Amino acid sequence: MKHDIMVTRSSMPPLEEYIEKIQPLWESHWLTNMGKYHQEFEEQLKEYLGTSYLSLMVNGHMSLELALQAMNFPEGGEVITTPFTFISTTHAIIRNRLVPVFCDIKLEDYTIDEAKIEALITEKTVAILPVHVYGNICEVEKIEEIAEKYNLKVIYDAAHAFGEKKDAIGVGNFGDASVFSFHATKVFHTIEGGAVTFSDPKLYKRLYDLKNFGIHSEEVIAQVGANAKMNEFSAAMGLCNLPYIGRNIEERKKRVEYYKEQLSSIEGLVLPRLEKENIEYSYGYFAVLFCPEILGEGMRDRIYEELHKIQVYARKYFYPITSDAACFRNKYKKDALENARYAGENILVLPLYPELPYEVIDEICSVIEKNCGKMK
Ligand SMILES: *Cc1c(COP(=O)(O)O)cnc(C)c1O
Repeated sequence: MKHDIMVTRSSMPPLEEYIEKIQPLWESHWLTNMGKYHQEFEEQLKEYLGTSYLSLMVNGHMSLELALQAMNFPEGGEVITTPFTFISTTHAIIRNRLVPVFCDIKLEDYTIDEAKIEALITEKTVAILPVHVYGNICEVEKIEEIAEKYNLKVIYDAAHAFGEKKDAIGVGNFGDASVFSFHATKVFHTIEGGAVTFSDPKLYKRLYDLKNFGIHSEEVIAQVGANAKMNEFSAAMGLCNLPYIGRNIEERKKRVEYYKEQLSSIEGLVLPRLEKENIEYSYGYFAVLFCPEILGEGMRDRIYEELHKIQVYARKYFYPITSDAACFRNKYKKDALENARYAGENILVLPLYPELPYEVIDEICSVIEKNCGKMK
C-alpha cells in the first residue's frame, strides 16, 4: 500500500466551496464572536439534528464541561458514567469538581448497563452521563425512568452519534442535554468544534454566558464564564460539510457491509450489530471484538501489530478504559467493570471513512483471516 491508512480520515468539502464560503471574511474582517456563519450554522444544525435548542462550541470537550457546569450541581456531586469512552467524558466530570462513579457496560453494544445504574445511586448522585459509544444509542427510555425516579439529570455524550435517530427522533433530544463533537476525526466535523443540544430554553442563555465570559454588554459582565465560542472558519467548514453528510454516511455504510461480508465467516470475531430496525446509524466506527476464549489471549494486540506492518493504523478504542488511566493511579482498579475491561482489552477499531478503498478492506480482512484462521 502506498499510503498510511489511519483509522479515519477527515472529510473535506470541495476546496472551491470552502474558498467561496470564507472569501467574505476578507471583506467583513469578522472572524469570530458569534458572526454570520455561527448564526447560520447553528440554525442549520438545529434543523438537521431536529432539536429544539442548540449551542455551538469550540470543541466537544468544552461542550461537555459547560453542559455539566450549566446544571449548577453542588461540588462533590456524583455522576454515574461509563468508563468505556474517550477520556474527555471522565475529565469533564472531574474538571467540574464532580465525582465520576463508574458503571459497567453491556457486551452486546458496549453502552452503559442500565440495569446496574440504580445500585450505584447514593444521596450524592446528581446526574447520569452515558455515552452512545460507536454510535450505539443507549437504552434511553430506561435511563430516563431511573432519572425521573431519583430526580437526576441526564447528559448524553453523543460524540459518536451525530445525525442518528431512534424511532425517527434525533439522538440529541434524549436527556436534559446531549453533547456532540465536530472534531476533524468525527463523522461530521468543523475542524474543531462541538455543540450542546437541549430542550430547556433557559439553558441557552446559561451556555451563552459560559462560552462567552458572561459578557452581556460592553460594560456588564453578568456571570463568570469561559471562552468556548466557535469561530467563523469552523462554522464555514460546518456549512460546507453539512450538505455531504448523507452521502458520507451512505459510503460508510457500504464499507461496513463490505467488512461484514468478509469477516462474518471467521469464528471468534464479534462484529458490530448495527442493525436495529428503528435506528438510523451514522456508521462512525467499525469495532471488532477478538474473543480470547476462541482465538486465544492477545489476538487483538497481534492483529494491531500485524496491521501496523502494512501501514494500517487500527486503534484500540478504548484501551485503557478511562477509570484505569494513569492519572487516576489505580483509584478505580477495584471497581467491578469486568465487561468494560474485557471490551477494552479485546476490541480493535478498524479503518472506516467514506473514501476508504475496498482493496484496503480486502487487505485488512486477509490479515485477520490469516491470523484468526478458523472458519465457522
Ligand atoms: C471526540 C470525543 C469527545 C471530545 O470531543 P472533542 O471535540 O475532541 O473535544 C468526547 N467524547 C467522546 C466519546 C468523543 O469521541
